[in-house]
Amino acid sequence: MSDLKQQAIVIGGVNYSDSSRVLWLITPEYGRQSMLVRGARRARSRFAGRMETFNLLEVVYRKSRSGTLHTLREADVQNQFPGLRASLEAFMAASGAVEMIKNVAPEDHECAALFQLLEDFLCCADEAADEEGMPALLLAAFGWRLLSLLGLEPQLVNCIRCGERLERCESYRFQPASGGVVCSGCAGDPGSATGRPLLIGYGALRFIYRSGRKFPLVREELSALSRQELAQAQRAVERYSAYHLGEKQPGGSRQA
Ligand SMILES: [Zn+2]
Repeated sequence: MSDLKQQAIVIGGVNYSDSSRVLWLITPEYGRQSMLVRGARRARSRFAGRMETFNLLEVVYRKSRSGTLHTLREADVQNQFPGLRASLEAFMAASGAVEMIKNVAPEDHECAALFQLLEDFLCCADEAADEEGMPALLLAAFGWRLLSLLGLEPQLVNCIRCGERLERCESYRFQPASGGVVCSGCAGDPGSATGRPLLIGYGALRFIYRSGRKFPLVREELSALSRQELAQAQRAVERYSAYHLGEKQPGGSRQA
C-alpha cells in the first residue's frame, strides 16, 4: 500500500516495546489514527521532539493492510504551540479539548470539521495563553461548538417541554439531561424534572447559543461574558457533554 500524507494533531500516545512508541493522531481525512514510531525513544531518533501532545504535524505514514496500527515514516512540525506549554491554564484547557476530541473522533473516517475546530482552538488558546480566564473561556466555546458539530446542540430558543418560544428573562432553567431549557410555566410540572436544572443567565445562554454556531466568537463577544456567566457556561457544557457524550467529565456525571 502506498504512503499517505496528512496534516495531523498529536492527541496522545503510549510507549511500545523497549524503544518505540505508538502515537495517537487525529487527521482530517482518516479521523483517529494510531501509528507505530519505531525507535522513537532512542536518544538520536529523528522523531525526537516531534511527538508531544498538541503538536500540529504533517505526517507521511504507511497504512496497515489489515489492522489499525499504521507506521509513521516522516513527521514535520508545523506548530508546537509554545504558549500552551508555558501557561498552566492554557495547558489544562488544551488537555480538556484533546480529551473531548479523543472520545468522539471516529477512527478511519473523515472528520475534517473536528480537526479544523481542534486546530483553531489550539491556535487561539496558544495566542491567548497569558490572558487570565481566556483559555477557559475558549474551552467552553470549543465544547459547545463541538457538540453542535456532532448534532447534539441544545435547544435554547424554545422550551423543551411545551415548545413555546422562551421569553427574555434574568435566568433560565437549563436541563442537561433533557437537552435544553425549560420555560417557567413548565418548570413546576413534575414530569419535567429530568435531573436537576442549572440556572443560567441571559449572557451565558447567548454565549452557548452563539458558540454552537461559530468558533471562535469575536473578541468583544468573548470579553462581554462576566466571570459568573463563564462559570455557568462551563458548568453547563460539563454537565451536558457528560450526559450526551456518555462519559465522565470533570464536575459532571450522568446522574446529575
Ligand atoms: Zn414550557
